[in-house]
Amino acid sequence: KTPVPSDIEIAMAQKPKHIGDLSRELKLSANEVDLYGKYKAKVSLDVVERLKNRKDGKYIVVTGINPTPLGEGKSTVTIGLTQAIGAHLKRPVFACVRQPSQGPTFGIKGGAAGGGYSQVIPMDEFNLHLTGDIHAITAANNLLAAAIDARRFHESTQSDKALFSRLCPAKKGVRKFSPIMITRLKKLGIDKTNPDDLTEEEVSKFVRLDIDPERILWNRVLDTNDRFLRQMTIGEAPTEKGYTRQTGFDIAVASEIMAVLALSTSLSDMRERFGRMVVAVSKSGEAITADDIGITGALTVLMKDAINPTLMQTLEGTPVFVHAGPFANIAHGNSSVIADKIALKVVGTPEGEPSTPENTGYVVTEAGFGADIGLEKFVDIKCRNSGLKPDAVVLVATVRALKTHGGGPAVTPGKPLAEEYTSENLELLEKGTSNLKRHIENICQFGLPVVVAINRFSTDTQAELDLVRKAALEAGAFDAVSANLWAEGGAGAIDLAKSVIKMCEAPQDFKFLYDLDISIKEKIEAIAKKYYRAGSVVFSEEAENKIKYFTEKGFDKLPICMAKTQYSFSADPNLKGAPEGFELPIRDIRASVGAGFLYPLCGQMQTLPGLPTRPCFFDVDVDIETGRVHGLF
Ligand code: ADP
Repeated sequence: KTPVPSDIEIAMAQKPKHIGDLSRELKLSANEVDLYGKYKAKVSLDVVERLKNRKDGKYIVVTGINPTPLGEGKSTVTIGLTQAIGAHLKRPVFACVRQPSQGPTFGIKGGAAGGGYSQVIPMDEFNLHLTGDIHAITAANNLLAAAIDARRFHESTQSDKALFSRLCPAKKGVRKFSPIMITRLKKLGIDKTNPDDLTEEEVSKFVRLDIDPERILWNRVLDTNDRFLRQMTIGEAPTEKGYTRQTGFDIAVASEIMAVLALSTSLSDMRERFGRMVVAVSKSGEAITADDIGITGALTVLMKDAINPTLMQTLEGTPVFVHAGPFANIAHGNSSVIADKIALKVVGTPEGEPSTPENTGYVVTEAGFGADIGLEKFVDIKCRNSGLKPDAVVLVATVRALKTHGGGPAVTPGKPLAEEYTSENLELLEKGTSNLKRHIENICQFGLPVVVAINRFSTDTQAELDLVRKAALEAGAFDAVSANLWAEGGAGAIDLAKSVIKMCEAPQDFKFLYDLDISIKEKIEAIAKKYYRAGSVVFSEEAENKIKYFTEKGFDKLPICMAKTQYSFSADPNLKGAPEGFELPIRDIRASVGAGFLYPLCGQMQTLPGLPTRPCFFDVDVDIETGRVHGLF
């Protein structure tokens, strides 16, 4: 058999259809589509309104077992499965995936367009600037960061009166509050609209945010793995001396702006979420929001195009929405609610017709990290927020990762795989199925049916594939099917697709893991004990203090977004398989009030990756003759 060429070679060999043709196939109107070149278009949320009487298509979420650092193929399965459903079984289908960050693209992991013959194309555009959403996030995030430091600087150097006259200057003799200032006045309980009516005390309350420099919660971001920006002192120029402080950069996709984008349901909802973001704490302990800074409108303007998902296509011409890509540890790691909503309508059952397997379509969306993190957040944060109910789950497993759970040696990117992984080893594999079984039991807790997709590698033996299938069925999976979609594209996933379609008709009893009404600690314990099977949860003093503060401020009704390693059910990446009774440490808890969740930190989380000794960029270049990109993978 001929070897599979590199991802970029495969992607470049396939000429995509013009995106206008694809949008016509989807019956999108010209007004709903904004072309960004030949192969990408932004699609407007108006589609949902136009098709509001349609019943949504079936909603399938792809997740995985605890992976190795190489990735077990969730994106590849998401794309290959939709190719099978759309191009081979000829059913309406949409894949909804996250936009990759350029950090990993040039760093260790490479691109995220799927792989082999299951990819989104053009994959160079997918992995690079796309339609500029991450740039918009960077701009919005950093405008807010600049505003916070500038405000602190100006407040420190001016009297109340001087500040007030600058914040509300007289224009043609008239002084006016801007609408965002009225929002702040209301929050302060000042029911006045004319600046001249404020008392001295009210002026002082209004102009002084009194930001505590030690408690500025908002970092700057960029989309580059630049480890030297993790921690820094800013304000070193003579003009700002005296206001220097320690801060740092995060990768752009870790910005709360990204988390908001992914969870917003409309432009007005996005604007409200931006306004609620808590960016600092005042010296008296008040939570200072983006509304207080007066920047909510400007952030919304910077993000108004980014709110529309980008339409692209798979290698086999089926549609894909690429939209949002929040971090999967400190955020929820799921693509956008808006993309899913539009896609569900586009493939939905035509108005007035009954919804049967013959006339409904399928949306396949992907949740980041393993099912312990990505799927739990998909259910308890994303679905709770969107009101959408999934119909079924696809759990991606590989023989390779299961062997690591059975005690196989560590898998390290860039290093050759140990023999255990390249030849048959049923003993290790059998032991490792504990991880798969635990995930299946967990998915059953959500009342959802699950098909295990065994992502097949060329070194897997039939006995190994059979063993995984048997273990999955024993644990209660609806089905388990091996798929050769990396090497064969949609043709390698037809059995998987048929099984998934069948599963969508299976009975289900969807439920969340916990209620929002219980306390912060009870919610964390519910996830830790019911889902991860921890024996106990240990809260640091810092975490205890934060829980008290968030409860006082009324943030205790938010869902929980655990920031935990993806390599284990526990907080220890080396604890493989299906551990039980371990201690889950909660080092700290932070709040993304705008996005709408609290995120406990189980251990140290890196929010700005670094470049390795040999980053992917060594291989990337452009062919000067043809203009083609090569070396991306
Ligand atoms: P995830 O989304 O789970 O992180 P990806 O789908 O991005 O994983 O796959 C990770 C990498 O593994 C990609 O480079 C992809 O091309 C490769 N890959 C996925 N499935 C296979 C397979 N069956 N055989 C060989 N390589 C694969």
